[in-house]
Amino acid sequence: MITVKDVRTRTNDEAEQADATPIAAAAPADERAPVERKRGHTISLRDLNVFYGDHAAVKGVDIAFAANKITAIIGPSGCGKSTLVRAINRMHEEVPGGHIEGEILLDDTPIYGDGVDVVAVRRAIGMVFQRPNPFPTMSIFDNVAAGLRLTGTARGKNLNNIVHDALRGAGLWAEVKGRLEKPAMSLSGGQQQRLCIARALAVRPEVVLMDEPCSALDPVATLRIEELLTDLKERVTIVLVTHNMQQAARVSDVTAFMLDGELVEVGDTEKIFTNPDDERTEQYVSGKFG
Ligand code: ADP
Repeated sequence: MITVKDVRTRTNDEAEQADATPIAAAAPADERAPVERKRGHTISLRDLNVFYGDHAAVKGVDIAFAANKITAIIGPSGCGKSTLVRAINRMHEEVPGGHIEGEILLDDTPIYGDGVDVVAVRRAIGMVFQRPNPFPTMSIFDNVAAGLRLTGTARGKNLNNIVHDALRGAGLWAEVKGRLEKPAMSLSGGQQQRLCIARALAVRPEVVLMDEPCSALDPVATLRIEELLTDLKERVTIVLVTHNMQQAARVSDVTAFMLDGELVEVGDTEKIFTNPDDERTEQYVSGKFG
């Protein structure tokens, strides 16, 4: 298991060697079920403010994303959903002027703490984007293997096993097992998105952030991903940004509603959609604005 805590005080080389052992030990036998139940990890945001220069796009957010659950983040366009999830895996700081105030914890490890390795954070907290973005010149296999090769954490048969397992976990194995060396771009849009999910799973993350992962997909491909999310929560904590309220209602356990950078309300999905506490939530989920 890779945790930020494991690597925070080590050099990258030492961390990679240490990480190789649990990954190797977890390599699947062919008969292994695609989804292995695993104790999940919690992400906590404490008084989180996320800035573009002087502009705060996320303001004073306190929330804990529970382990082995899917939390949907809903809210109108521009309310800060994307900015919030990009802060969680430290991508936001890549934007010029981008910075945060407050705290983000993976279990009890502050991911912006001194000595925390950003690469380790991004391995532990994976991300899937709105548009499928496979590496266009690479094969199906190489796309999934890319992260493992980059860090040298798996080779040979072990690498094959991890790639195959990630493809099983992403619900793509049956469709691609006979053509792993074919270009990733030969896949349909929905398959490419599941390939990106396999790529995220291959490095065995603790948390997967999904930023509108179905918005470029047709309804059938969308349903396939939604089914997959329900399986995946057995092994990772999932944060799902979606503008699609039906999707949030269908797949999430918990829903968080944001407005103008603030977290208005968070609760069990059923409650948020049927009996929310805040009038603004009620107006949003009943389609009165958005
Ligand atoms: P959402 O995901 O809910 O649509 P975003 O997180 O994309 O919202 O945007 C939140 C706010 O941050 C918006 O006001 C948007 O204009 C602003 N914003 C987003 N990206 C940038 C950027 N790269 N530079 C400056 N402001 C940005």
